[in-house]
Amino acid sequence: MGISILRGDITKQAVDAIVNAANSSLMGGGGVDGAIHRAGGPAILDECRDLRASRYGRGLPTGQAVATTAGNLNARWVIHTVGPVYSESEDRSALLASCYRESLRVADELGAASVAFPAVSAGVYGWPAESAARIAVATVRETDTRVDDVRFVLFNDEVYAAFERAMG
Ligand code: ADP
Repeated sequence: MGISILRGDITKQAVDAIVNAANSSLMGGGGVDGAIHRAGGPAILDECRDLRASRYGRGLPTGQAVATTAGNLNARWVIHTVGPVYSESEDRSALLASCYRESLRVADELGAASVAFPAVSAGVYGWPAESAARIAVATVRETDTRVDDVRFVLFNDEVYAAFERAMG
């Protein structure tokens, strides 16, 4: 598997699957979630609504992942995962690692060969960039998957630099 880091807007990536740092409502939000729904169009939200009605009436639990169409994006699927809100009093690293592992598991189920990840939880959810990057890179490296192209697409300099250090 090849792992790369890029600076830019994940909605511009041409890959099999784009991972969304969603919230558990699956009804859209700010940050990368808003950008994906804006660029992908209403088909994504339609499917999210169906998932809420059929499988996730209480929302998608933190650390889990589920796929929808990618609508107008240059991808076949969006994989929605819910990162943990950062906490100073509780170690939620296992949940953040689970986001990457579960997203790759869903990608394998779909047969996706290339997957683009944002820095899950590193925005509104407050996870320190250095730690978010270390968990992301270590978890992807440790995961047994058939995905052969994993790209971390980072939107700002601080997070990009943290991923550069985590890549070693
Ligand atoms: P969370 O709620 O999981 O923290 P956010 O969307 O607030 O999710 O932030 C996650 C990361 O995604 C942040 O580093 C943010 O800068 C980044 N981000 C925001 N928009 C985009 C985009 N269009 N492409 C890639 N990353 C983005």
